[in-house]
Order: sequence, then structure tokens, then C-alpha cells
Amino acid sequence: MEFEPVIGLEVHAQLKTRTKIFCSCATAFGAPPNTQVCPVCLGLPGVLPVLNRAVVECALGMALAVSCTIARESRFARKNYFYPDLPKGYQISQYELPIAENGRLAVETEAGPRVVRIRRIHMEEDAGKLVHDPRLGRSRVDFNRAGVPLIEIVSEPDLDSAAAAGAYLRALRGLVRWLGICDGNLEEGSFRCDANVSVKPRGSPVLGTRTELKNLNSFRFVERAIEREIERQREVLAEGGAVVQETRLYDPERDRTVPMRGKEEAHDYRYFPDPDLPPLTIDEAWIEAVRQRLPELPEARRRRFVARLGLSAYDAGVLTSERGLADYFEEALARFPQPKTVANWVMGPVLALLNERGLEPQAAPVAPAALAGLLTLVEQGTISAKTAKEVFAEMAQSGAAAEAIVAARGLSQISGESELEAIARDVLARHPEEVASFRAGKKKLMGFFVGEVMKATRGRANPKTVNALLDRLLNA
Ligand code: ADP
Ligand code: MG
Ligand code: ZN
Repeated sequence: MEFEPVIGLEVHAQLKTRTKIFCSCATAFGAPPNTQVCPVCLGLPGVLPVLNRAVVECALGMALAVSCTIARESRFARKNYFYPDLPKGYQISQYELPIAENGRLAVETEAGPRVVRIRRIHMEEDAGKLVHDPRLGRSRVDFNRAGVPLIEIVSEPDLDSAAAAGAYLRALRGLVRWLGICDGNLEEGSFRCDANVSVKPRGSPVLGTRTELKNLNSFRFVERAIEREIERQREVLAEGGAVVQETRLYDPERDRTVPMRGKEEAHDYRYFPDPDLPPLTIDEAWIEAVRQRLPELPEARRRRFVARLGLSAYDAGVLTSERGLADYFEEALARFPQPKTVANWVMGPVLALLNERGLEPQAAPVAPAALAGLLTLVEQGTISAKTAKEVFAEMAQSGAAAEAIVAARGLSQISGESELEAIARDVLARHPEEVASFRAGKKKLMGFFVGEVMKATRGRANPKTVNALLDRLLNA
């Protein structure tokens, strides 16, 4: 029997609000341990949490961006469990009434475009962080992260391969970064993914028993872990066994998943509505205000780049992979209105430069206006496209404008007929045999003469002018 995979992801995104979700402690990363704490986030008795409005607005923005239905009234609950990083003994999270449900995200996968349904989005607080010190044989706890806001985005089990899960996760990360609500860093844990994996007989409407994979802190690990878990479950079933519902960890060293603990059920957590927090009510006006402030979303922008600018779907996809990159492209385009040329430069030299230096598009050493200046010189015939690449490299180094570099280094193209004619005549005079062969019918030698002129001018001759000129001189 053939088994097909079914995957659903639970993603936690740490929100970039200035303060925590229920108190005014700072959220800034990297402060000395336990310096950003107060009685509320430490869970001391007698204090009351107060919901941070900015957190609701981040969650609303995300919910609208994936077309969710917004709950006019939602609730916070207490999820009870013991762990040393959780000082209150419970985590405040939304449970039966989340802020948003029933959304969708369009994703480009290797197998074509897919729509992944979003089951729910809810708000919750993060826990503290245990710091293990093997040298001292102890663990210490840092509560700076306790109470930092998170949204959890839960997909329906709509993904059918590790690659599709990876594509969905990338799209989701792209979106939270685009909205500016999360920095999307898997390695540092500001964007975390748990993957639920099961397999079922091909075509069967009934889902198989799933396992939940944790500890997936890079895109590579997410995809590898899912792949290995699918293989494992197929083997178990092929041997007549049954998949056990449990939480498993990915062990990158051995490249396999290993059991961590039995799967907990919701009732294990004794959820109940938090009596300290009133229900959250959201009216139409608030939703509309958030909607008005949303930037143009990646999908809409991609469609606009294809329909209005005539770019290929691929180019539009690359240019809208980051909002900053799309902004860069459009700023350059405003000053040099040739979409395909600007797109090629942005996806080529500009992106290479950003990757090489690890910079965001906003900090590009060659600003969009400067790039447009360079392209204008090519357009006017002042420099060749080839020379432009060199000039770009120097602009990236020195920050000087294209025109200044071209003038200082004498790089402008020689288009003047008289100057070129002298050089061309000289080339022909130095190669009498080739000239004779050409005139006897070996027309292919034209390329040779053009090459010699280009060499003599160190590539600065305008190839069109050279061709016309040689044609005239040789056929005279
Ligand atoms: P919990 O993990 O808290 O028990 P849910 O039952 O709501 O929560 O499911 C969480 C995630 O697991 C969702 O992303 C959902 O799509 C996915 N999921 C549920 N059932 C399966 C299944 N049989 N195979 C794969 N994924 C599943
Ligand atoms: Mg789960
Ligand atoms: Zn606090």
C-alpha cells in the first residue's frame, strides 16, 4: 500500500512590540539576565495583567493579511503546567476563543501554487529561558523573555510534502517580516515551528495518527525532520505496526527523529478563562483602522508587478520576497522607468552585494537613486553595459556616484566617429592579410576586426559605431 504524507504546522512568532504583553517591561533582546522583569511578568501575588494594545494590533494585522475572520470577542485562558521557566505556573494564552480563525495563505511550491488554510491565530505570552551551565552542573533561569508577546499561527493539515511545508513556512516568515511584526529568525528563536506529521493510504479521507516534531531551528532542519519522520512512519506501517501519538525531537547529528514524550492532551493543562483579564472586544472601526494601515501585501504586489510592469512571475516573486527589496526596486524604477532592466540589476548585482555584506535593502551601499543614475549612463550610451558592472562595483566600494567614477577614470564610451576611425584604420593597416581575405569573401573576419578595435580602446568603443565604421572602411 502507498502512504501519502499529511502535515500541519504550528508557528510561534515573537512580536516586535516595545513592551511585553501584560506589563510595561521592555522586550529588547540581549539585556543582562533578569533586568527586564516586574511583579506582573514574574507572577507575584496580588498583581493584575493589562493587555498591551500594540500586541492586539500586530495579531489583527496578521489575521487580516491571511484573510481570517476576526472574533468580535475573544478570551485569554490559563494553560497550567509546571516548568522552572514559568514562574506563575500557568501560561496566559488564548484557547477556546482565539482572536482570529479560518484564514488562508497562497504559497508557491515546487508542485505549483497551493492555498494553505489557516485554522486559527491566537495571542499568548512567552516563557522565560533556562540557561544550562554544564561546567557548573547547574541551570539558571532568565525571566527577561517571560511575558514577551507571541502569536501562534496554526495551519490546517493541508501540506503534503516536506518541501511544501518549507515553502509555507517561508511564505509565512516573509509575511510577518513584511508586516514588520516579527523579525522571523528561526536560529535565534523569534520564529519557531512545530510540525505535525502523519501518513495515510493514498486517497483515503481519514487522517492517520500524527506525531509532533519540535526543536526545528532552521529551514533545513524543518524539511529534513519532516522527511525523515515520513519515512519512519511509512516503515512502521509497512511492517504492520502502528504510529504512536507522541512528541518527537529532531536529532541533527543522527539525522533522525527521536521520541521526547507522550503527547499531552488539552485536558492535561486544565485550561480555564483567566479571571484577571476581561474578554477582548474588537469593533469594526478598530479592524478598519488596522486594515487601512496595512502595507500593500506581497501577493498583491507580485500580481501588480506581473500585470502592470510586465515582469515574469519568477522575477516578481524574487522582488517581493522582502518588502525592502520591493521598495528598493520601485524607487529605482521611479527614476529609471524600464522594469526589466531595473529588475535584472536588482536581482543580480544588488542582491549579490546585499548577500555578500549581509545587509538589508534599506542599507544598500548603492541607493536606488544611484543605481538609476548608473543605468541612465548606459541608456545614454556614455558607458557600455559591461563597464557599468565595473562602475557598480566601485560605487559599492566608495559610495561615489556613477558619473563621478566614469569621469575620474575616463571610462566613458568612445562614440565619436573621428576618434574611432583613426583607431579602426590603424587596426586594418596592421592586418593587411586579414583585410585581403575579408575582401576575397571571408566575411567572418568582421568579428576579428571588431575585437581588435575593442581591445585597442580597452572595451570603451561603442560596438554599434565600430561595426558601422568597419563595414564602411572594408567595403570601400
Ligand atoms: P494540538 O497540537 O494542540 O493538539 P490540534 O489538534 O489543533 O492541536 O492540531 C495542531 C496541528 O496539527 C494543526 O496544525 C493541524 O493541522 C495538525 N494536525 C492535526 N491532525 C493532524 C494529522 N492527522 N496529521 C498531520 N497534522 C495534523
Ligand atoms: Mg500542538
Ligand atoms: Zn514585567
